[in-house]
Amino acid sequence: MTRLSAFTAPGRFWRGNLHTHSTRSDGVLPPEEVCRRYRDEGYDFLALTDHFIGSYGYPIVDTTSFRTNRFTTILGAELHSGAMANGELWHILAVGLPPDFAPSDSPTFLPKPGQETGAEIAARAVAAGAFVAIAHPQWSGLTLADARAIEAAHAVEIYNHGCATGCDRPDGAAIADLLLTEGRRLSLIATDDAHFSEPDHFGGWVMVKAEENEPEALLAALKRGDFYSSQGPELRDVVVEGDRVVVECSAAVSVVAMGHGTGAKAVHGHSMTRAAVPLARLNDSPWLRVAVIDAAGKRAWSNPIWLR
Ligand SMILES: [Zn+2]
Ligand SMILES: [Zn+2]
Repeated sequence: MTRLSAFTAPGRFWRGNLHTHSTRSDGVLPPEEVCRRYRDEGYDFLALTDHFIGSYGYPIVDTTSFRTNRFTTILGAELHSGAMANGELWHILAVGLPPDFAPSDSPTFLPKPGQETGAEIAARAVAAGAFVAIAHPQWSGLTLADARAIEAAHAVEIYNHGCATGCDRPDGAAIADLLLTEGRRLSLIATDDAHFSEPDHFGGWVMVKAEENEPEALLAALKRGDFYSSQGPELRDVVVEGDRVVVECSAAVSVVAMGHGTGAKAVHGHSMTRAAVPLARLNDSPWLRVAVIDAAGKRAWSNPIWLR
C-alpha cells in the first residue's frame, strides 16, 4: 500500500496561491490590496512573486506587514535570466526567497548575453532556500530539453490560471509527464499568476498539508510534496492498494489515473466521492498521478506517486 504523503503528513490543509503580481512589477493592484483580496477570499497564504527584473528594481516585496493571525505570506519572485530554445527569456517561479537574494543581470524581459542561464538562477534560488517551479510551460513554448535543463526545480506548473484566461494555454501536464517518465521526481502546482488585469485570479491553488500556517512549515511541506493542486475539487485520500488506486474526493464525475506513455484509466460516475481506478491500463508505469473532475469541469491534481 502506498499513500500520498499529503494524506499521511500531520496537520491540516492550508489553501494558498504561489504565483501573483502587483504594482511592484506589471500587476494592477498594490501589494496591500492583492494580499487583502486573497485574505478576504478565504486563502490561508499567498506568495507575491513580482517579476525579478531590473526595470522594476528586482522586487522581492516585503509582505510581512500584511500577515494576520489567520493569513500568512511567503516572500518570493518570478525569476528571469537566460534564453529558452525559442530565444525568449526564462520564467521561473521562486517561493521562499530571502529578501536579500542577489539580483540577476536581467534589466528587461529580453535575454542578455552573459547573464545567468535559467538553470543557474533556479539552482541559486534553491540554494537560497526557495521552492522552485517551472512556470507556465505551455505559454512559454518550452521544449522538453528546456524543461529538462532546470535540474534544481521542485515542481512544474500543471495549471496557470492567468495563462488559461489570457491565452488559452493553461497547462504543463504534457511536459511534466515527460519529465516524470525520465525519472524526475517533480511535484505539480496550480497557480493563479494573477495580475488583476483580467479574470486571472482565484482559479488555481495549492492545498498544503502542514501543522502550522507559517511560512517555514508551508515551504518545507511544499518541498516534500505534501500538497495537491485544485481549481475547486477536494482530494481527501489517494492510496495505491494492490492493482488499483483508491481516491476519495469531493463529488466528482471523473477520476483519472495516469502514468507513462499512453497509460491511463478513468472511472466515471455521478457525485462520486470515492473511486477505485484499476491500474492494469497504466502499463506498469513506475509513477502515477490522479486527476479528479467535477460536474462543473473543475479539476484537482495529485502529486505523482512513485511505485518503484
Ligand atoms: Zn511568467
Ligand atoms: Zn507570473
